[in-house]
Amino acid sequence: MSEEKKYLTTASGAPVGDNQNSITAGHRGPTLIQDVHLLEKLAHFNRERVPERVVHAKGAGAHGYFEVTNDVSKYTKAAFLSEIGKKTPMFIRFSTVAGELGSADTVRDPRGFAVKFYTEEGNYDLVGNNTPIFFIRDAIKFPDFIHTQKRNPQTNLKDPNAVWDFWSLSPESLHQITYLHSDRGIPATLRHMNGYGSHTFKWVNNDGEAVWVKYHFIADQGVKNLDPATATTIAGDNPDYHTQDLFNAIAEGDYPSWTLKVQIMPIEDANTYRYDPFDVTKVWPHADYPLIEVGRMVLDRNPENYFAEVEQAAFSPGHFVPGIEASPDKMLQGRLFAYSDAHRYRIGANHEALPINRAKSPINNYQRDGQMRFDGNGGSAPNYEPNSFSSTPKETPESKISPFEVTGFADSVAYDSDDHYSQPRALFNDVMNDEERERLIQNFAESMSGVTREGIIERQLENFYKVDPALAEGIAEKLQVEVPAHLKK
Ligand code: NDP
Repeated sequence: MSEEKKYLTTASGAPVGDNQNSITAGHRGPTLIQDVHLLEKLAHFNRERVPERVVHAKGAGAHGYFEVTNDVSKYTKAAFLSEIGKKTPMFIRFSTVAGELGSADTVRDPRGFAVKFYTEEGNYDLVGNNTPIFFIRDAIKFPDFIHTQKRNPQTNLKDPNAVWDFWSLSPESLHQITYLHSDRGIPATLRHMNGYGSHTFKWVNNDGEAVWVKYHFIADQGVKNLDPATATTIAGDNPDYHTQDLFNAIAEGDYPSWTLKVQIMPIEDANTYRYDPFDVTKVWPHADYPLIEVGRMVLDRNPENYFAEVEQAAFSPGHFVPGIEASPDKMLQGRLFAYSDAHRYRIGANHEALPINRAKSPINNYQRDGQMRFDGNGGSAPNYEPNSFSSTPKETPESKISPFEVTGFADSVAYDSDDHYSQPRALFNDVMNDEERERLIQNFAESMSGVTREGIIERQLENFYKVDPALAEGIAEKLQVEVPAHLKK
């Protein structure tokens, strides 16, 4: 740090004479409006907050790097994945979903797992969760779903009736709620959970050949969880427990890492595979599409300034690089719009130019002006295209998306399959052991014990029964209700 003495200045750079005493008429005042430093200081303070994210408000972030450990160039032409040993700087933001900015970390909730890779071809954002699936599979249901997770419009309290009313009427949520109410619903730390891209994406190689892909970040620290009683105690004692753990681990040089693996599906399999590969309420069983290692992500640097780097971080599933594209997943398609739109509202039209968001590769386009434009705004170069100037940005046809065929009648239509049951059944029966099943049943019963509105419990038990009668009966017993009689026939 420079030894040169630093002078306190106003935002416009003028030296401040007195930062402790406002300009008043004598010792008793009143205060003079000509104390512009005071006016600006109070006015800026009033504007310190930007709107918190409607979802994923509470977060913690870290810088790091991604290193390729396996050659996947036959599947994707993405430059940052092009050769073993290649390193790309990245930033990650972990978050809870439902709570507000100041809410406790150790709650039962999915965790956001949003990664920004600063590649030489622009930023690639993989905006995932710590669950491989999601509650719903069509973006049109998202605002309604989130309303049920937030506060009741009258009481301003969390509302189990709304939560279970919605879930009981949306059986596609069964897989995710089973995952969420399992041990993994409350991670021990942010370092001890996996991350998943959840959606299906498309990879395209240098020959224009495409495959479908799913991402899995497997925690090298292992998966560890908190039991609900401990989590509740911690939520009271230290609501920022996960945030603190991540910061301290990195500060102490105990750098957390994840191994990135992918599942690859040949394009044509999508037409015949037993599950719709674009349905985000489904996984691709490992036996069908085994995990292939890609590389390692290491978090080795804490943010210097939380607001600048974590609060202003703006991720979008629509930030692709050549070689990585969208799939028709209806939930993903909605997110392609909604994330950048949220940031335009939250931090402005030029949020991509903020240091944490700005690509490390050159940004050359014809977008101009807008609030808070603080770079050169394109200078004197023409602000239109096509143009006859030789040194202006030109298209790269080889970066065009890979063409794909679409067919079908335009209509408001559901996914083909109503099998909401076989995958949560596999999780319940084949993945969990007896103790895990018992804890799942207990967690469900505890959550549902707050439901008072008629019909919801019965409807949800019916859904659980279709997953496995033992699941429905176990929960019913704990809630001291009967499984609806018609199910037992
Ligand atoms: P597998 O037996 O091949 O895989 C099951 C996977 O479940 C494990 O590899 C592990 O994935 C994850 N897992 C392990 N313990 C738990 C737990 N207590 N709670 C939640 N997940 C756990 O079976 P399938 O691939 O056929 O999947 C069976 C079920 O497992 C699925 O229906 C899904 O619910 C769940 N699952 C599947 C994943 C997939 O992508 N296929 C991923 C995660 C869960 P990991 O190493 O990713 O933690």
